[in-house]
Amino acid sequence: MDTRAMHWGIVGGGMLGLTLALRLSARGHQVTVIEAAPCLGGLASAWRLGDITWDRHYHVTLLSDTHTRGLLAELGLERDMQWVQTRTGFYTGGRLHSMSNTVEFLRFPPLGPVDKARLALTILYASRVRDWRRLERIPVADWLRRLSGERTFQRIWLPLLRSKLGENYTRTSAAFIWATIQRMYAARRSGLKKEMFGYVPGGYARILDRLAERLRERGVGIVTGSPTQRVTRAGSRLRVTTAGGASQIFDRVAVTVPAPLAARLCPEMDEGERARLEAIEYQGIVCASVLLKAPLASYYVTNITESWVPFTAVIEMSALVDRAEFGGRSLVYLPRYAAGNDAVFEATDEELRERFLAALERMYPHFHRDQVECFQVSRVRHVHALSTLGYSERLPPMRSSVPGLFIVNSSHIVNGTLNVNETVGLADRALEAIAHDNRG
Ligand SMILES: Cc1cc2nc3c(=O)[nH]c(=O)nc-3n(C[C@H](O)[C@H](O)[C@H](O)COP(=O)(O)OP(=O)(O)OC[C@H]3O[C@@H](n4cnc5c(N)ncnc54)[C@H](O)[C@@H]3O)c2cc1C
Repeated sequence: MDTRAMHWGIVGGGMLGLTLALRLSARGHQVTVIEAAPCLGGLASAWRLGDITWDRHYHVTLLSDTHTRGLLAELGLERDMQWVQTRTGFYTGGRLHSMSNTVEFLRFPPLGPVDKARLALTILYASRVRDWRRLERIPVADWLRRLSGERTFQRIWLPLLRSKLGENYTRTSAAFIWATIQRMYAARRSGLKKEMFGYVPGGYARILDRLAERLRERGVGIVTGSPTQRVTRAGSRLRVTTAGGASQIFDRVAVTVPAPLAARLCPEMDEGERARLEAIEYQGIVCASVLLKAPLASYYVTNITESWVPFTAVIEMSALVDRAEFGGRSLVYLPRYAAGNDAVFEATDEELRERFLAALERMYPHFHRDQVECFQVSRVRHVHALSTLGYSERLPPMRSSVPGLFIVNSSHIVNGTLNVNETVGLADRALEAIAHDNRG
């Protein structure tokens, strides 16, 4: 219990804002969460797809996700988790290959034995590197070329980098791929023999409902459908003004929205700080959820190296989650990561449906679009910050130049990939910054 209980305003009701609210309320603070969207959860929120409710974006938990599992245990949901060993596919050279174990890797046709050995050594080496700050100074393409060789870079790494980063891969540091490989290896590092993917039956809709229920029990105020427009000083306190002009005064405010949006909401931060937040570049996503009468394949993730395919991977959720959750049907996600100003954001649902389903028909000969029961598109322009060269050195601290105002968001995940585990861990780190502020 904090002896100086205060009233906190949290702008943004995603997993970060909600976890912060949970932790601050546990310390005895009064907390109000203010969310722009009609429902909580942000990137992890759920939506209605035909007659089912499931995550708007695909989510899994890893066995090594100790922060997420800890939170789920607090909410009494961890014991319900289902753990599944999934398979991985690779679509390359116009064919679908299984890449789910060492034998399949050794058989993988696009690479010869020497290339495969170098690829395996690259991954092993990356999993052992500890000094990620050194990697922040090396372009990812240079690093991977040097370790894996030009052929493997062109055939495997480059298409995978482009699928996540577009042409921005040229400005991305090696810390990006290091963090991705670290996550892949986390289970093994923690002594677990095999990687398993887990989910909570009912998906994030159930997790978020339970989290909101717990917050309300603790007296946390939750306001949805209320975009914050400004956070300004009000004497020694802070005023949060929402759309429509209503405002509320808080002792402390934590803004958890993406960095450039935070810069716009908080005009009283010093200019240099706002410029640094605005300069953080984000990748966005256009992600289609497709409900199908029949399965597409048996892989949870299928990586794609063909540039004609308009999406960057195929995620078959029903290869992991019991199909009973989807009324016996299959749920497939078709994500396309792109910079926020990419033309794909302007495409209508009908255009995307036509492009995406035509590509699926070409990739999977047994698939026909008459198997589609529902096709729905999510568009988010700010998903994750680009890990550019020297990224962490330019990041402003969480404690802002305005007393009592904290800017905490996923851009502060400097040595990890974007996932709920890192997000919950970030909330705990933010609490340290806050506690430090209280002492000072
Ligand atoms: C395609 C995809 C797949 C993913 N897969 C996984 C996975 O498999 N496993 C995993 O662990 N994680 C996964 N993640 C990551 C996970 O979703 C994020 O780590 C987490 O949801 C981030 O939470 P956040 O609160 O930091 O951000 P956000 O969810 O972006 O929350 C920010 C919130 O602020 C709100 N907001 C914005 N502007 C305002 C305003 N002006 N006023 C008030 N509120 C505002 C937004 O509406 C939003 O709710 C995935 C994400 C995506 C996009």
